[in-house]
Amino acid sequence: MKDRKMLNEILNNTINELNLTDKKADIKIKIKPLKRKIASISLINKTIYINKNILPYLSDEEIRFILAHELLHLKYGKYHINEFEEELLFLFPNKEAILIKLINKLHQKNTWKS
Ligand SMILES: [Zn+2]
Repeated sequence: MKDRKMLNEILNNTINELNLTDKKADIKIKIKPLKRKIASISLINKTIYINKNILPYLSDEEIRFILAHELLHLKYGKYHINEFEEELLFLFPNKEAILIKLINKLHQKNTWKS
């Protein structure tokens, strides 16, 4: 089960990995149902939203990947610019495989609900 303590641990580790420690105090995670996404970030509120319906099905690595992705938006802005993609690939050389699994989980969950 993915509890808050564990999420915060993964968040803190990922913040350190991405050298975002100066922003650390402000970054929050909120768990809530999202319609079509696994996660998103509000750059203004420095808040990461994780889809409540999918969270229980995610592995630690997938959570780490999702948080890294959203935190990279904090670092590089709204768009997936080259630096964004390069850093994500550096952290997750297997990023394509992780993405495929995540997309499958999102689709499965949406299918169950409808
Ligand atoms: Zn993105």
